[in-house]
Amino acid sequence: MRIIYFDLCAIPLFLMILFICHSRKMTKGTANRLFISVVLLSLFSAVADLGMEIADNAVPLSEAGRVICTVSTYMYLTLRNANIAVLLLFLLALTKTTFLLRKWWSKIVFSLPYTMILVMLAQNPFTHNAFTVTAEAGYARGPLMLAFYGIAMVYGLGGLAYCVYCRRYLPPDKWIPLLSVYILAYIAVVIQFFRPQLLVEMFCTALGEMLIMLSIMRPEERMDSEAGMLSWASYQSDLRNILLSGEKVQIIVIRMLNCREIRNYLGEHKYNKYLSEIANDIRTIRWNRRHRIEIYFERPGTIYLITDTDETGRENVGERLLSEIGDHIKRYAKMGVRFEPRVCLIRCPEDLRKAEDIISLGHRFQTADSSGRTAFRASEIVQTKAFVIEAHIEEILDRAIKENRIVMHYQPIYDVRSGRFHSAEALARIADPEYGLLSPAIFIPAAEMEGFILPLGDAVLEQVFRFISEHDLDALGLSNIEINLSVAQCMERNLPEKILALQRKYGVDPCRINLEITETTFENISETMLENVNALSRMGYSFALDDYGIGYSSIQRVNHLPLKIIKIDKSMLEEASSASGRTILEHTMRMMQAIGKQLVAEGAETQDEIDILKKMDCDYIQGFYFSQPLPEEAFIRFMKEQNGRPGC
Ligand code: C2E
Ligand code: MG
Ligand code: MG
Repeated sequence: MRIIYFDLCAIPLFLMILFICHSRKMTKGTANRLFISVVLLSLFSAVADLGMEIADNAVPLSEAGRVICTVSTYMYLTLRNANIAVLLLFLLALTKTTFLLRKWWSKIVFSLPYTMILVMLAQNPFTHNAFTVTAEAGYARGPLMLAFYGIAMVYGLGGLAYCVYCRRYLPPDKWIPLLSVYILAYIAVVIQFFRPQLLVEMFCTALGEMLIMLSIMRPEERMDSEAGMLSWASYQSDLRNILLSGEKVQIIVIRMLNCREIRNYLGEHKYNKYLSEIANDIRTIRWNRRHRIEIYFERPGTIYLITDTDETGRENVGERLLSEIGDHIKRYAKMGVRFEPRVCLIRCPEDLRKAEDIISLGHRFQTADSSGRTAFRASEIVQTKAFVIEAHIEEILDRAIKENRIVMHYQPIYDVRSGRFHSAEALARIADPEYGLLSPAIFIPAAEMEGFILPLGDAVLEQVFRFISEHDLDALGLSNIEINLSVAQCMERNLPEKILALQRKYGVDPCRINLEITETTFENISETMLENVNALSRMGYSFALDDYGIGYSSIQRVNHLPLKIIKIDKSMLEEASSASGRTILEHTMRMMQAIGKQLVAEGAETQDEIDILKKMDCDYIQGFYFSQPLPEEAFIRFMKEQNGRPGC
């Protein structure tokens, strides 16, 4: 007598899993659909198993009992084997490796064992060599039944081996539950082998599938439910899996430039609704074109589409999306707001093969061209020198600091009254052995982001102190050197101590150094920063406010800080070509001088600009008109030549 209670318990468990899938809206996407198929096949297998065993327990069988037992056995063998095969497909979908089955021969290899099952079942009514159901003996196995077990083993062992291999693709909290599903199934087989009356197989399967449901199928991890798209975390992990597996894909990145403004204008709720509309619209493109496209979203406004490459020569979905998707998204003009999309097509692995590079390109491809074009191809961008440098900037910075490859250039600053060069600004460059001399416009923002700005700032301070100690500034006609301080340096607790140590080490008089702080530094002003500025002022260092005029400068703030010099940003000088720009520049300069500040105008390139500045009574001028920033030796030569002359 077989004990059917385990099967009886398994059925509600399968129903519960299906209910949870439905209520969590886990019905879209290949992996979700395959998981539902696995559970449905398990459910029907359990029902068939139950039917088979109930009928078999009632031996000798009535005619109806014989029919029920026969039909249930056919059902069970068909569905249960399909169940194990689909579980393997689910594994492939979960690890983004379904492309392994794209080749015709791999499809044949995968479906051959199951086809054999169907053939064996089809011939059984005539040969009865798989099983028989008779009124007297009930269900009895035939010699071919071993082949059924063998084939189930092929899928089962294949799945188990693949699970172990999946460690590369999945974190332990995902692949261990997957492995447990197979282990549970094998435990059930062992139990049923020794105690055939205990029908635990479907119950163990239900436990395994429940484990998958609880630990792997977590939509809250995969989905950005408010935007109705897969989450940014899913994009990163799927991308890594795809690259690991070697699958060829195309990625379309859609950056919506004005997303923050739109979000502020519409509010979070309406903005999310707006995004789900876009996602739904993209989904309709997918169905029209019969292409598998996964849609991901990164807040605040970047959509990623991953689609398979089309090697068959039919329409190239990546190219079509690239040309059409921008217009598609622009259509969403509501209440006067319109998204401004920039789209980029990345082919993997042809254009890029590292996940970090793909992610980083997705964040900044739109800066590759300032002409306002909307569609980009990664193949064009990745070959540019700027991209190659940016892609390797971390490595470059690391090397620069470790191997002391930061070199200082000095740009002379002209004193309008004396007609001589009275100071110079120290500007950092990296002399990289592979990429040449790099501009701070590239590496300073990267150093700030990657955490290199403090060691870089230290190296700059050290170099300038050394420079001052090695040269007689008075003989060169230089009163001081200006050093740029970054925001992070200004907020460093021990900045005054560091500078004091250098001062002592090189015997430099603080009046020889003028520290430049940018206007943006004061936008996030902190107590430490104020303490540092005040402490250094007391030590005798003077301060200049750099790039005045590009931020939202508060004259109040300028007045309250110990600033000796204001450096007018070159954008203000550029604006001075118009009458209104000229008035603004003139009044700004007059106001600054009225509150006792000295003025340096930055970025003077032409004689006209010099004339304007002189007429406005500017104190000092810095710009390419006089000199580019020069390497140390060239700068010394320049100063000797220029200041040696009677007037310049
Ligand atoms: P900044 O401090 O405003 O420096 C002036 C920038 O304007 C320099 O660019 C200089 O080469 C450029 N410049 C000077 N005259 C002209 C001109 O006539 N026309 C034009 N178009 N440009 C001119 P550079 O050397 O590329 O430095 C860019 C920025 O990088 C600097 O702007 C500064 O903010 C930052 N930086 C440079 N060196 C350091 C450093 O050692 N530490 C820190 N924290 N930042 C630095
Ligand atoms: Mg500066
Ligand atoms: Mg400046």
